Amino acid sequence: RAKWSKGDSDESKNLPIYQHKAKLQQAVKDNSFLVVTGETGSGKTTQLPQYLHQAGFWNNGKIGITQPRRVAAITVAQRVSQEMHCSLGREVGYQVRFDDCTTQDTVVKYMTDGCLLREILADPVLSQYSVVILDEAHERSLNTDILLGLLKQTLSSPDKASKGRSVPLKVVVMSATLETDKLSVFLGGCPVFTIPGRTFPVTSKFGCAIGPKDTESSVYVKEVVKVTLDIHTSEMAGDILVFLTGQSEIEKACDMLYEKAESIDYRYDVQDRKVEGMLILPLYGSMPTDQQKQIFQPPPPGIRKCVVATNIAATSLTINGIKYIVDSGFVKQLNHNSRVGMDILEVVPISKSEALQRAGRAGRTSAGKCFRIYSQAFWEKCMPEYTVPEIQRTSLTAVILTLKCLGVHDVIRFPYLDRPEERFILEALKRLYQCDAIDRRGKVTRLGELMVEFPLPPGLTRALLQAASLGVEDLLLPVAAMLSVENIFIRPGHPEKQKEADQKHRQLGVQAGSCNDFTMLLSVFEKCKASDAPSAWCKDNYIHWRALKSAFSVETQLREILLRLQQKRDFPMEKFDGNKSELFRRCLCAGYFTNVARRSVGKVFCTMDGHGSMVHIHPSSTLFDQEPQLDWVIFHDLLVTSRIYIRTVCPIRYDWVKDLLPKLHEVDVYELSSVARE
Ligand code: ADP
Ligand code: MG
Repeated sequence: RAKWSKGDSDESKNLPIYQHKAKLQQAVKDNSFLVVTGETGSGKTTQLPQYLHQAGFWNNGKIGITQPRRVAAITVAQRVSQEMHCSLGREVGYQVRFDDCTTQDTVVKYMTDGCLLREILADPVLSQYSVVILDEAHERSLNTDILLGLLKQTLSSPDKASKGRSVPLKVVVMSATLETDKLSVFLGGCPVFTIPGRTFPVTSKFGCAIGPKDTESSVYVKEVVKVTLDIHTSEMAGDILVFLTGQSEIEKACDMLYEKAESIDYRYDVQDRKVEGMLILPLYGSMPTDQQKQIFQPPPPGIRKCVVATNIAATSLTINGIKYIVDSGFVKQLNHNSRVGMDILEVVPISKSEALQRAGRAGRTSAGKCFRIYSQAFWEKCMPEYTVPEIQRTSLTAVILTLKCLGVHDVIRFPYLDRPEERFILEALKRLYQCDAIDRRGKVTRLGELMVEFPLPPGLTRALLQAASLGVEDLLLPVAAMLSVENIFIRPGHPEKQKEADQKHRQLGVQAGSCNDFTMLLSVFEKCKASDAPSAWCKDNYIHWRALKSAFSVETQLREILLRLQQKRDFPMEKFDGNKSELFRRCLCAGYFTNVARRSVGKVFCTMDGHGSMVHIHPSSTLFDQEPQLDWVIFHDLLVTSRIYIRTVCPIRYDWVKDLLPKLHEVDVYELSSVARE
């Protein structure tokens, strides 16, 4: 182990946190809870775990660091393994959903907050860890908020905390310079360690492209490209960081930038003769990690680096050398939509505090400039002061089931850092009851205990378990895997290519026999798996090979979980006669009967969950244009634009859901929480 205990590199000695190394090591030793705060880029995420490692904490168990975003966990683990001179997965490793890169040797473990929550399920006192660091607490992700509450509860009852542990667990909560007092008060008045930062002034300029009335998405991509090129051709040397909403917008913007940057004549256009080219790099969550490495490398001399990123570059990852920010003013956010009663990924204006955070990225090493494409009126009228914590705007179903399985029955009086509205909690209880995960008194059922083992949305898990109990899990496992990875169907931007892709996809659908979007997923999975040259097969059929490859791995992992559960004696088994296609769709109904819609007129369907939303089948569906032949359908999710679309759709018979539908209305939600209220 001596090999990687070399100490700190010169580069890391220059980080602001380095001056406080000894004091930080001592502070963690002295306190069971500690809040650490400092400017983004001061070295918290990459350095503190190494300091604790050097201080010998690993002798008593792993040092665990959580991140709300999976890319951050992976990228930072890579970086730290290099700094510690070990190969990734050995002493330094990471674990994210469906991707575990750790070994017996791993003592510094980066992971998503969701992964640590799963570990708590199996081991409530986290006996394998000496320290747990909850990073990026200011992001207020749902899982980090729940972890905060759970760890507060565990550590505040001494007999609970020490049970099964030789030395007490240490908890460090790290946050950018927001809300640290609130965190400290929540954690019983624990000390706050502030790493003094140095920041440089950033001047911000409003634009005029986006006013309070125009929030059209095609407008902001175009405007962002225009502003970026303006900076490139008229500002002094220095790299650009562009904030956009998601993968497709980022790819579109990069394509436009490539094209336009080609035709710049640097002899005349560029004011600063030192800049003679632009290196355009996308950065988003599902990007291959080898491509992400380039982001951190300085550009070649004379070249300006331009990173087009999602919010991940706001605080999770720090890119050195950024002097200019282009802020689109928007973010993609999961929100509970009360109109349709479901969570939906939406593009919304960022908050003012988020906008300041984005601008700040330009002032890390010298003075910088931030170009906002939106107007001052947009800032004043459309942007909220702060971002609402995820716990107050998304579905709590999975988290409430986890809490119940951990023995937290009173989910209403659980110590939340910010309390979700009671109706959100009640809605989650109702959904769990409908899936048979809890009973009428709010107690976890046997099925609920099985469901919590799967890192999947409850409806999908319910369908999978239904299939398993009937012995046809082979139909559902691939579908669950396909729905857990990024989009697998390539949709080329070019109209001709788009036509060809649509045709190929339709063909695959026809070959799948009984045509619906779930069998389509199953068929693509099986065909590709059976192929001798899977990557060529994918290319030929306009399928993302990388996404499909991860679906293969996810399917194996889900199968392993299921096998483990099936080996238990009381795994539920049922009998069923009938044909396989019907069986498949009936299993889907068991989980998706809450997402059922009936055709009302023409191409319009009406949901049956009490919201009665009017919905359309999305054009990407194999059932698009066949609406007149359909009556009842179930669907996986919704997309809201000017219309509400249902995606991944399957026709069903009313008979199959007839007995289930009353469940949507019968239940009195207050009865479900009676345990909590007694
Ligand atoms: P904080 O957590 O306080 O925001 P970090 O520990 O993430 O700070 O970053 C400290 C420094 O390490 C930054 O200068 C950042 O650019 C650098 N860094 C982090 N990850 C990488 C990486 N993968 N490659 C190169 N530099 C990195
Ligand atoms: Mg950090």
